[in-house]
Amino acid sequence: MTPDLINWHERSQSLRIETRAYIDGAYVDALSGQTFECINPATGLPIASIASCDAADVERAVKSARRAFEGGDWSRAAPLERKKVLQRFSTLILEHREELALLESLNVGKPITNAFNGDIASSAATIQWYAEAIDKVYGEVAQSGHDMTTMVIREALGVVAAVVPWNYPLSMACWKLGPALATGNSVILKPAEQSPLTAIRIASLATEAGIPKGVLNVLPGFGETAGKALGLHMDVDAVAFTGSTAVGKLFMQYAGQSNIKRVGLECGGKSPHIVLADCQDLDAAARSVAAGIFSNAGQVCNAGSRLIVDKSVSKALLDRVVEHAANLKPGDPLDPATRLGAIVSQRQLSTVMSYVQTGQAEGARLLAGGERALQESGGYFMSPTVFADVSRDMRIAQEEIFGPVLSAITVSGIDEAIEVANASNYGLAAGVWTDNVKSALHASRMLRAGVVWVNCFDRGSMAAPFGGFKQSGFGRDKSLHAFDKYTDWKSIWMAH
Ligand code: NAD
Repeated sequence: MTPDLINWHERSQSLRIETRAYIDGAYVDALSGQTFECINPATGLPIASIASCDAADVERAVKSARRAFEGGDWSRAAPLERKKVLQRFSTLILEHREELALLESLNVGKPITNAFNGDIASSAATIQWYAEAIDKVYGEVAQSGHDMTTMVIREALGVVAAVVPWNYPLSMACWKLGPALATGNSVILKPAEQSPLTAIRIASLATEAGIPKGVLNVLPGFGETAGKALGLHMDVDAVAFTGSTAVGKLFMQYAGQSNIKRVGLECGGKSPHIVLADCQDLDAAARSVAAGIFSNAGQVCNAGSRLIVDKSVSKALLDRVVEHAANLKPGDPLDPATRLGAIVSQRQLSTVMSYVQTGQAEGARLLAGGERALQESGGYFMSPTVFADVSRDMRIAQEEIFGPVLSAITVSGIDEAIEVANASNYGLAAGVWTDNVKSALHASRMLRAGVVWVNCFDRGSMAAPFGGFKQSGFGRDKSLHAFDKYTDWKSIWMAH
């Protein structure tokens, strides 16, 4: 079934939404009995009251996770066994693709087609990838002489807290769950308070697949309560975090204040998308620039939010980008034809709109958008926005807006382009368009970013690591390198 053949509004009428936390293999209310409202950003209306977990629930979940880890049913299972179970888990996610896509779209205002073809499919693929990988990785035998054998092996850390954001709720969760579970850890997943629905739902699918109770717990709740309690807990061995740089810094403090738990941080970005004078295919570059900032309504960590364009092609490129912006209309996320959905919350919409005012006050020129859209829906929609005449030190050039707002900076030549691109606290990703192989290689080496795209943007697969330089964080998601976040090396010396 393809998403365009489904009547999603009709389907949503019969959708059953699980609202409770998942601890020790069962759905449970928060111990306090507290709940919080989950809002549909496309209508502004509540869709469910979700268990609001706090430190007491964290305590229960950590105990369950620790018990499961020490019990060994999962942590000491043969990799081949974990592989089979994770493969079933992946299959179950795919079998529930319609339900999960609908939950994701209702919860964060994401176009249903993107949720169905993108988020849910890629989440299942992530779990599958780590399932397939885990019985194919080896330890090492160190050179230590004839009377000694030294094995260097990876060991799971123990109890891992995965704290994730709302922009790709299930995908970001699975980037953590895949490698953490495959290596034998127990996991406590805390979804963002804006987007708990798919995380809650997949917990029972994990049990159905055969993941033992306590190995995957899901705690919906607020950052300042559930998130902080996980960060400060003395029996949590690692936090795998994706979210803002400000909260990433808090997790480093929590670790220092508690048990120096391992912290992996996938944080924010302000990615430069460079178009050099020798780029011949300005149509392709403009398409890429527009997609790079307007996909997922700009709520993307690696969004190409800074266009850095050579002055010789600036007008021609911006004309094309503005045309794309004008043609991209926000629409009902449950309509399969919609390509631009809602902003996740009233609060986030206000933040993004305030940056539009900031840009104008700073003297940037508004070329497109800058307004709310579809206000009659009650939802939080915004038109794609383009600013020109941006200078490198303006706030709209430096701060992560996390919305569909492009800031275009004009430069002269490759050296200035690289200098401006690197003049940022962030270093998650960067793109460069050029037809000159030397420029492509030079820029790729000089750009301070964890990912560089040449003549493309936002490409990726599980085969290559993803993560940032500078204040975009450290540690890598995706690929075999992600195992580093969830394991430690142990050296075993055997005399003989
Ligand atoms: P956020 O930092 O506000 O929240 C992320 C998570 O941290 C949520 O689960 C939240 O509940 C929790 N949290 C919030 N305050 C906390 C506190 N005081 N203590 C403990 N936990 C707390 O981020 P967000 O608004 O949900 O997501 C947007 C951010 O995520 C952007 O900065 C974006 O760039 C970043 N992001 C990064 C990547 C990446 O791979 N680098 C991917 C997606 C999103």
